Amino acid sequence: MAAIVFVNPVKDFTLAELREALVGHRKLGKTVYAKYTCQHCGERIRHDVPNSFPDKVTCSRCGGEHDLLKSGGNYLTIQSIPPS
Ligand SMILES: [Zn+2]
Repeated sequence: MAAIVFVNPVKDFTLAELREALVGHRKLGKTVYAKYTCQHCGERIRHDVPNSFPDKVTCSRCGGEHDLLKSGGNYLTIQSIPPS
């Protein structure tokens, strides 16, 4: 199935704002992935678990525990397109 991926401009939101955005996007049937800049390795990471904005996440690059509550972050949304 085809999909459109939306990535927001580079700007980080607070975790509360991210969770609020998640609720809105889920109502529209979109899948949401958190993005953040890891405090350990400095890489921009996409959180592996969809529709999840926990207080702390494990970096998929370096394995370090990152404090999303402190750093905030951004997200990308994926909307599936039904076959025509
Ligand atoms: Zn890392």
